[in-house]
Amino acid sequence: MAKAKHGNVAIFVPHNGCPNMCSFCNQRTISGQSAQPDGEFVRKTCEDALNSMTVDPQNAQIAFFGGSFTAIDRALMVSLLQAAAEYVETGKFAGIRISTRPDCIDEEILSILKRYHVTDIELGAQSMDDRVLRLNRRGHTAEDVEKASRLIKQAGFSLGLQMMVGLYGENRGDIPSEGADKTLTERTMYTAERIAALKPDGVRIYPTAVLKGTELARLFEAGVYFPPSVDMAVECCADVMEFFEKKNITVLRVGLHASETVEADVIAGVYHPAFRELCDNELYFRKILRIVEKKADKKAKIYVEPHSISKAVGQKRKNIVRLSSLGYDVCICPREGVAAGEIETES
Ligand code: SF4
Repeated sequence: MAKAKHGNVAIFVPHNGCPNMCSFCNQRTISGQSAQPDGEFVRKTCEDALNSMTVDPQNAQIAFFGGSFTAIDRALMVSLLQAAAEYVETGKFAGIRISTRPDCIDEEILSILKRYHVTDIELGAQSMDDRVLRLNRRGHTAEDVEKASRLIKQAGFSLGLQMMVGLYGENRGDIPSEGADKTLTERTMYTAERIAALKPDGVRIYPTAVLKGTELARLFEAGVYFPPSVDMAVECCADVMEFFEKKNITVLRVGLHASETVEADVIAGVYHPAFRELCDNELYFRKILRIVEKKADKKAKIYVEPHSISKAVGQKRKNIVRLSSLGYDVCICPREGVAAGEIETES
């Protein structure tokens, strides 16, 4: 089997018994149902990955995800890191990445992470608006995100930041509303701008899905929370992606991982198994529109890299239909050498 170039070995570390009460999290309702990995599990997972030859050790990392890695029991955290570090020290994997909360980073924790060859740290910032953080019971402030980000960068780690779109208090109609004149995109861009100022190496954008058993589900059912539709979230995330692109900040992910568990638990809000593709469709639409708008005859032949034809055309030919309804006649063709996400046209 061919080796994947940048495959990571992903190990989910639940925060069983988490004392926080984030509005979007169903940890409390599923508490105890997620098995906690131990050092042996880490070793077995790494061995399985190496044996299946699906990863290239030169590029692959061991990724502990779950969102609160440095907040779990300290002895457990160290035992997981020790097991993973053996594979980095013997050159079998390139490094270790973790994700955690901004208020669970300090110099002492960073020195432990460094000792065990962690290279990348992602923080769940979620919002940089203290009002939104408070309404969603995150238990940390925007300043915590800034302070943790500075420490992470100063210590030489790669920094990733995660943000959410459409949390409680960000949407028109949410009660209590403040600044009701602001759109979801304006509120989201505020967070994106403060995140960009921290100069992360990458960002992940998660539109809010309302899961059963969460505080958001209660607020939604009580009629005080109005999460965005998929279409609104696509519009907003495309704006944010364009913004990060201009700032040369890599967007590592947009939308939740497709999963049957999430699908079964979503009662409202934004969940689509191919959410990023919808955003990529929108970005292509905008780029094509900017070209064809300048054509006096309203016609254009657009070239994209061969693998991106379906993204440029859109799901169910949505982009072609939209352009046609605006009176434009656009032909989208493959051309080798066009950069991913870019378009070319005849001059
Ligand atoms: S999202 Fe919040 S409530 Fe859920 S596990 Fe993480 S810190 Fe705890």
